[in-house]
Amino acid sequence: MSANKQLRALPGDALAVSEEYLPGNNAYDADGIIRALQTGIVIKDTKEKEINVKTTTSSRVPDVGDVVTGQIEVAQSSTSNLKIFYLNGKPTQGGFVGIIFLREERGGRGMRRTAVKLGDVVRAKVISTMNAMIHLSIGEPHLGVIASLCSVCGRPLVMRDGRGQCNNCGNVEDRKFADDYGREPIQP
Ligand SMILES: [Zn+2]
Repeated sequence: MSANKQLRALPGDALAVSEEYLPGNNAYDADGIIRALQTGIVIKDTKEKEINVKTTTSSRVPDVGDVVTGQIEVAQSSTSNLKIFYLNGKPTQGGFVGIIFLREERGGRGMRRTAVKLGDVVRAKVISTMNAMIHLSIGEPHLGVIASLCSVCGRPLVMRDGRGQCNNCGNVEDRKFADDYGREPIQP
């Protein structure tokens, strides 16, 4: 494929296989297929072996009440960082990162559940922008993980009885899933 040819992508479109390219901006790896996370022009960086989707949408700073969608780029036990790709359903190029504070679920000891994991695609609501930090919540039913992969084999997790199950290796994982988890294509 020529690097000069302008190829447009819609969210979920397959762009390449992961053996050839790494997911760059606005792209993600799902089961070995690099897919577009948003609408835009596909740009293949053959030197860095990275595939990007460039949008032309301008962006503003996310504000309280906004709904954002992105990918978890840092996941720790108490906080996770979400690289934001969508603001209220529209692509944003602001390069914003929000932070999700993960409270312990009720149930106490032994019941701590993993809400999000590295690489998950997550829909969240902005609850505060204090100190120029974008604080996010995933508590509501329509918020949470909307795409995630098995930690063991990398296949997509299927939601079953509120937990994520891998149909390939049988692994079961916890997430805080959004109510539309598993719907294709992903709605930001
Ligand atoms: Zn698996």
